[in-house]
Amino acid sequence: MSVDSFYRARSPAPPPRAPLAGRHEVHTCVVGGGFAGLNTALGLAERGGSDVMLLESHEIGHGASGRNGGFVFGGFSRGEAELLAELGPQRAQALYQGTVDAVELIRRRIRKYDIRCEATDAGVIWANWFRDPAVLKERQRLLAKNFGVEWQWLGREEMAHRIASDRYGEGLYEANALHFDPLAYARGLTEAATSQGVRVHESSPAISLDRDGSGWRVRTPAGEVHARHVVLACGGYLAGLRREVDAGVLPIATYVMVTEPLGPRLDEVLRTRAAIYDSRFAFDYYRPLPDTRLLWGGRISIFDRSADAVRRLLRRDLLRVFPQLHDLRIERAWSGLMSYARHQMPQVGKVEEGLWLAQAFGGHGVAPTTFAGEMLASAIAHGDPRWRELSDYGLVSALKPAGFAGAQLSYWWYQARDAWKDRWESR
Ligand SMILES: Cc1cc2nc3c(=O)[nH]c(=O)nc-3n(C[C@H](O)[C@H](O)[C@H](O)COP(=O)(O)OP(=O)(O)OC[C@H]3O[C@@H](n4cnc5c(N)ncnc54)[C@H](O)[C@@H]3O)c2cc1C
Repeated sequence: MSVDSFYRARSPAPPPRAPLAGRHEVHTCVVGGGFAGLNTALGLAERGGSDVMLLESHEIGHGASGRNGGFVFGGFSRGEAELLAELGPQRAQALYQGTVDAVELIRRRIRKYDIRCEATDAGVIWANWFRDPAVLKERQRLLAKNFGVEWQWLGREEMAHRIASDRYGEGLYEANALHFDPLAYARGLTEAATSQGVRVHESSPAISLDRDGSGWRVRTPAGEVHARHVVLACGGYLAGLRREVDAGVLPIATYVMVTEPLGPRLDEVLRTRAAIYDSRFAFDYYRPLPDTRLLWGGRISIFDRSADAVRRLLRRDLLRVFPQLHDLRIERAWSGLMSYARHQMPQVGKVEEGLWLAQAFGGHGVAPTTFAGEMLASAIAHGDPRWRELSDYGLVSALKPAGFAGAQLSYWWYQARDAWKDRWESR
């Protein structure tokens, strides 16, 4: 399904950037116009490397980056406790800090390049779906002790004051977080990169990738580019250029919808401008938009669904939290693909000499793609080896097609477990 997101429908694409034609030579060719590719290209330009070309098969932000929930916060798809157990305190903290720094870099770029993306710097609330607050207490303690990150405790009364729903117990407030229109931000990054010399071509799918002396040759339907370095950043939309790269991720769908404007009713439902998600495995995520709409997302699936099906499913989810909004009209619903590795961490780094990769950001990718872009730009421009911090989580096979069944089964398993816990608590 390729339904226009709300972001795109309200703000159609700027004039298209011409497809690649003819033969070109550049220092670095980035394949993929999502946040991973854009952040790498802009990171290179900001380091003085303007001999960069970015190829996007559709238009900038066509993938997950231009259609996501717009939450900007630290961390990865993989949980902090797992990082700690797998990497030890120092390395886990260094990686987590990379994403916290990325949140700050996003703020700086919005200011520096004057990107009009409705950035709402009001934090994020993690709302407890269950009665037992132990999971929240443990996470708050772990983040403070090992990651130097303080999430503020919100008691039941405080939560009820901020969110008019009896679904939730306590909450944790992450102040260092924002939310924005991701498509407007992607377009802003593109402007920032092109104003510093990066060449961007839309409607330019890379269709082959071959060795070319000490560099690489990338072909598109009407052109070819010879580059010393190539960065593959194609997310869940799979470039189809290297078998082991595509085999490393599962494309998984998630869904989003936008309501009609609520007007003054918004304040009756939410007395916060923070974005909100809950503590289930298959959580709802939602946020108030400046024009008083609610943007609502949730679910993960290996199934792509029609806009009507997404609308039905998410509307049901919304009404479980806010039954008082039963008469609300849903204006648009859409889906997007995330790319997940088996280890739920990004795959970032060198595949072969001059061939780089940034994919598998999962459902938590806005800050991590920014972090990855910085690491890759610094590696390509200055030989910085920091990307090796992520090398424990490499290009392992996602075991397709069995991996799809496994992903859907574990989703259903966790969903059933959460439902059971919910029922048990309400006895
Ligand atoms: C619905 C949804 C909601 C989400 N919500 C959030 C959120 O609120 N916060 C958060 O942090 N993360 C969220 N995520 C995850 C986040 O959006 C992604 O992790 C991140 O955007 C991935 O960026 P990317 O550049 O790797 O991939 P994408 O943004 O998917 O970009 C890949 C691009 O590569 C292009 N491409 C593919 N093949 C080729 C080729 N051969 N040649 C040229 N171009 C090619 C595609 O057209 C696409 O534009 C969400 C994801 C989805 C789908």
